[in-house]
Amino acid sequence: MAPFKLPRGARREAAELIAKVAGGDLNRDLLFLAPHGAIDRRNRVAIADTREGEIATIEAEVDKHLGAFRNAPYRIRLRDETGFLTVAYFRAREDMMQRLWPVGQKRLVSGKIELWNGERQMLHPDHVVDPAKGEAPPPVEPVYPLTADLPLRTLQRAIKTALDATGELPEWLDPTTPQGHDWPRFREALVKLHQPAEPGDIKPDGPARTRLAYDELFARQCALRLRRAHRRDSAGRAVIGDGSHTKRLLAALPYKPTGAQTRAFAEIAADMARPAPMLRLLQGDVGSGKTLAAAHTMALAAEAGLQSALMAPTDILARQHGANLLPLLESAGLRAAVLTGRDKTAARRAILEQLASGAIHALIGTHALFQESVTFKDLGLIVIDEQHRFGVSDRMRLVEKGYAPHVLVMSATPIPRTLALAVHGDMDLSVLDEKPPGRQPIRTVAMPSSRADELADHIAEAAARGERAYWVCPLIEESEAVDYAAVQDRYDVLRERFGDGVEIVHGRMAASAREAAMERFRAGEAFLLVATTVIEVGVDVPEASIMVIEDADRFGLAQLHQLRGRVGRGSLRGSCVLLWRGPLSQTARERLDIMRRTDDGFVIAEKDYQLRGAGDMLGFRQSGLPPFRLVDPETHGKLLAGADMEARMAIDRDPTLEYERGRAIAMALELFGYAEAAQLARSG
Ligand code: ADP
Ligand code: MG
Repeated sequence: MAPFKLPRGARREAAELIAKVAGGDLNRDLLFLAPHGAIDRRNRVAIADTREGEIATIEAEVDKHLGAFRNAPYRIRLRDETGFLTVAYFRAREDMMQRLWPVGQKRLVSGKIELWNGERQMLHPDHVVDPAKGEAPPPVEPVYPLTADLPLRTLQRAIKTALDATGELPEWLDPTTPQGHDWPRFREALVKLHQPAEPGDIKPDGPARTRLAYDELFARQCALRLRRAHRRDSAGRAVIGDGSHTKRLLAALPYKPTGAQTRAFAEIAADMARPAPMLRLLQGDVGSGKTLAAAHTMALAAEAGLQSALMAPTDILARQHGANLLPLLESAGLRAAVLTGRDKTAARRAILEQLASGAIHALIGTHALFQESVTFKDLGLIVIDEQHRFGVSDRMRLVEKGYAPHVLVMSATPIPRTLALAVHGDMDLSVLDEKPPGRQPIRTVAMPSSRADELADHIAEAAARGERAYWVCPLIEESEAVDYAAVQDRYDVLRERFGDGVEIVHGRMAASAREAAMERFRAGEAFLLVATTVIEVGVDVPEASIMVIEDADRFGLAQLHQLRGRVGRGSLRGSCVLLWRGPLSQTARERLDIMRRTDDGFVIAEKDYQLRGAGDMLGFRQSGLPPFRLVDPETHGKLLAGADMEARMAIDRDPTLEYERGRAIAMALELFGYAEAAQLARSG
């Protein structure tokens, strides 16, 4: 870690304090290492009541030194009213043993009970203390995740040293926050976490760990807020259009933009008119018309003489975008092209030349756009589809190809409004919350998977009418092997019945095999595609009218909604069948019910949030942020909205972090790995 730099005007002693806490990454890593369990040594048991494999704390009298025999360990026999226990040490020195275990005295001993030759034994006890002196083993000891190569005791000692060196830090939260929740102060929370008095002290939802998780969320949200403020103050190019391309685009449309689309056009235009780079998230449910918004933004950039690039996560999606966007862009008077990794040399060279000369206004592609050979005359706008596939470093590589280009990120994953800013903190937000008129809602039913055969009949009938179907099986990481077997089994069963009409795609197939299978499905050579959720993002096959989701109760609502959005995209009315295997829990029943009742992604996201908290949303891969150490998304997700609100207020009040609380926040930023955001604040 870089040496800690003083926030402007920080007091000297505070700087010393934090240097101790953060001093070298090691101390901080130690302090923020979250225990994943605890050994409870408070319960004293009689020897006869101990059980093999358990940690026990016993008060017993030293009965006799049995000594060491050949290579056997040095053994000492203890007794209480109920029986005998042997403690044993390899490579022990007799004089030390005599001092530690004086015959006739009582000792408190704590450690793991084993059976050896049918007798109770404790090998190398964890703790031996003298109760006559009022000593006791630590009541509760935290256990840490990485003890494989590192003995627990060594780690505990290192953490204790780091804790002892840690002074009190000034409070960075609004005092009412910890008071209102009855949370300890930061340092006290760390002490509770590493030196708990009772197991509750280290529970993820206990006050100490919750406070620390909140601190971590708060620091992240402050960092995101600071980044946003800094970006909005940095130099970029104002795009002021003359309407020449955008008017042509709108005039050529066979429909009118929705109110939401018109609002988004205006928000985007106002943002690009500022002399700072835009970073805006365009959020809209599947089918809400994000493509038109992208085309409109590209047309606007062209009016200011700037080129655009649209980046999609896969070749298929890039070509699909091309098919939708090229006609729109051409109608606006723009020249556009698609460039993917597959394009042959001659065609590729022609595109690159026209790009460098400025003859091409808009380029659509994949990661291939990153390549060095791709140079723009003047790249001023980057549109990114499905942002969770791209990290910030990807974004930066493309940004470097232009001069402070504006960035529009499009996402089809609805997030509750209250959370959108928290999750995407450094971006501005436009929402397409209205669908084009005349869309037929997707018919959704839930049924037990015992009716799969009947369902297959139904699919066969639809196929006879030229329709196509997806059959999705869940993939959940803990049991991947089992899950893959499930996909394969389902495929085998359906294959037996339909032969070549069925294809399979999943993440373990080679990309080429996967694309070939997708292509057969798209072309209609296969009418049924058995798949894992690899098909979730953006695939568009207008003839697909049926979506079957197996074990639907194992999916999140947002994911079910994404999957459902894959059908009913053409003129056909879509239907979605949610298969379940009983018995269903109350929540699972409720969730399937919500899916049947509504088709609105934002309503579903809101319900998902109520039922499951923000855990999933916190899990989104966030651009270039350090991983959480103390936040457990599932447990602490519900703290996000509050932490974000508090961060927003604090940063609004003191954007350069120069007042007392601001300086404390700068320390929190340093501690949690956002030093760069603290620097941004001070330089702003
Ligand atoms: P998504 O947000 O999922 O990318 P698309 O941009 O693909 O949605 O739009 C879905 C469909 O809706 C496309 O066929 C598109 O032509 C059509 N569409 C977009 N905007 C409108 C509108 N204002 N009125 C009618 N149809 C529209
Ligand atoms: Mg789209």
